[in-house]
Amino acid sequence: MVKKSTLVNHPPAVEVPADNRPVVAPIHQTVKFEFQTVDDTLRSLRGDRAGFFYLRSSNPTTRQLELTLAELQGRDDCLVCASGVGAIAQALLSLTRQGDHVLCFIETYGPTRHLIRRTLAKFGVEHTLLSIADLAGIERVLSSRPTRLVVFESPTNPINRIADIAAISRLARTHGALTVLDNTFAGVHQHGQYDIDIFLHSLTKFVSGHGDVMGGAAIANERLIRGLRPDFTVLGGVLDPHAAFLLQRGLKTYFVRFRAQCANAQRVAEFLSSHPAVERTHYPGLPGDPGHALAAAQMTDFGAVVSFDLRGGAEAGRRFAEALQLFAMTASLGSTESLVMPPQMLGSRDLNEEQQRLSGVADGTVRLSIGLEDADDLLEDLQQALAAAVQA
Ligand SMILES: *Cc1c(COP(=O)(O)O)cnc(C)c1O
Repeated sequence: MVKKSTLVNHPPAVEVPADNRPVVAPIHQTVKFEFQTVDDTLRSLRGDRAGFFYLRSSNPTTRQLELTLAELQGRDDCLVCASGVGAIAQALLSLTRQGDHVLCFIETYGPTRHLIRRTLAKFGVEHTLLSIADLAGIERVLSSRPTRLVVFESPTNPINRIADIAAISRLARTHGALTVLDNTFAGVHQHGQYDIDIFLHSLTKFVSGHGDVMGGAAIANERLIRGLRPDFTVLGGVLDPHAAFLLQRGLKTYFVRFRAQCANAQRVAEFLSSHPAVERTHYPGLPGDPGHALAAAQMTDFGAVVSFDLRGGAEAGRRFAEALQLFAMTASLGSTESLVMPPQMLGSRDLNEEQQRLSGVADGTVRLSIGLEDADDLLEDLQQALAAAVQA
């Protein structure tokens, strides 16, 4: 018998018989895995036998999430990490080197622009910044200088511009650039039919769905993931197994949530587009939206983000956001509760005046993320907040 202090550090093993599977995969909340022999350990490390060694490289719980996400996005393999920004940062650092040129866009998630224009710039990576609507500009840039990456989104944040994914991927392929699509707004089930090299996702949004866990993913074919994996392992933004478990659980209701949120968003967009206090509604599900035809061809579900331009500008936006009862005034999107971002939270300080204008974000632009509340309750709340906004 070992002493009690030894016992608590080597607790009795409970073996589950091989023919007695848990219906929900257990959380492998462990950093380390061991074999009994040196040879088995070395064979596992070389990839010559199945097994796990150290969490920063892989873990059964995070691996299950990776395999599920790869299949949902229609690619061979996936790497998960601790946040969406972590996935973007690690992928960009891994894919570029000094002297490379990256094409990126005004209508991009702010931290992605920061990573390309500030962080990568420190390592001698150059960039060109265009509007995603400027296809002629994209062609001109790609044909005039060697480009390593085209980094883009669709729909874009916050005003739901729709990128022409087929045209952009064709131009990139022709000119030898890799395409990196941050597919967070569209979700892990869309856009897989296009010739995109690397999909990036914030799992914090629709995959978690409940606003209680962060995660990110890079999804690509096997060859590209093989190139990314060693860099992801040493850059070290590891997804915790418990977070991976919660994200895997979130996926079980992903389609039900996503589609119900899209249906609510469509109702909200239709309501806003006919309201006199609203100058313009940005939602690709609206037949009058400039991106509607492209979105209808590319997507089955138009997303849960609805943005709109309020007459009366920023101060009307402030009154509107503060008057809402059912919408939390905060960052993020895709969770089961509805959220609002007023104009004061949407500006991009790193863009010059001309770029601000091209971004389409106006003085009175408000972004909503639509949740799973009853749509009639949401419309009633929006109605009273719009009334408060125009009562100056
Ligand atoms: C939220 C978001 C991210 C960042 O994800 P985090 O999980 O918050 O780090 C990246 N891209 C887009 C489009 C996002 O909306």
